[in-house]
Amino acid sequence: MIAENLARIRNNIAIRCDKLSRSPDEVRLIAVTKYFGVDTIEEAVSAGLTDFGENKAQELNLKFEKLANKVTWHFIGTLQKNKVKYAVKAAEFIHSVDSYELADEINLRAAKLNKVQKILLEVNTSSEESKSGLITEEDVLKLTEYCFKKENINLIGLMTMAPFTENEKTIRNCFSSLRVMKEILNKNGFNLTELSMGMTNDYEIAVEEGATMLRIGSAIFGERNYSKDWREI
Ligand SMILES: *Cc1c(COP(=O)(O)O)cnc(C)c1O
Repeated sequence: MIAENLARIRNNIAIRCDKLSRSPDEVRLIAVTKYFGVDTIEEAVSAGLTDFGENKAQELNLKFEKLANKVTWHFIGTLQKNKVKYAVKAAEFIHSVDSYELADEINLRAAKLNKVQKILLEVNTSSEESKSGLITEEDVLKLTEYCFKKENINLIGLMTMAPFTENEKTIRNCFSSLRVMKEILNKNGFNLTELSMGMTNDYEIAVEEGATMLRIGSAIFGERNYSKDWREI
């Protein structure tokens, strides 16, 4: 099932890229495996997936211990300061940085591991209160400046989540505003390359709006069983 789903998704991505003369190689597909076990991840690796995303630091750590360096890990969830050490240990990319405290802690933990941690800043482009992330352009610019001064952080891009809605225009506005924000930062002398946006329900719109990283779970693996405890994975 995973291989078939993946083929369909890759085809959809290719169609959208083709329309915009983008190369599909510019779009990194991150398979979001929260609530799925190591067996499922191994099946996905056999189907050709290399990048995996988790939204809980301890769940990521557990899977990292079992799969080690066979795959590239992305941390995509809300990160508490006391869990940063797990994320830095396991993840090549942390997508969800939205505060100075978090940037400081990541820098500290990365230094201890002799690592330069790749990060993205999370932006709340929908202004929904339930979502985390920076809201104003000024806040994004200030935290970008701050991160660029940190030796053990490499800020490579921005991340956002669109609202869960059928309204394509609302979704598109979120993604295009993230793209514009990246352009503004780069005009200010920064050099951000990544836009992490697009999930199962909206990844095709995200590709059209310039996404370079898609975070897709259920379209690849099916519905998640939220009653399952990650400790049993
Ligand atoms: C769960 C999750 C996804 C993937 O969601 P799907 O709708 O299953 O594709 C993407 N991004 C984040 C931050 C998530 O927590």
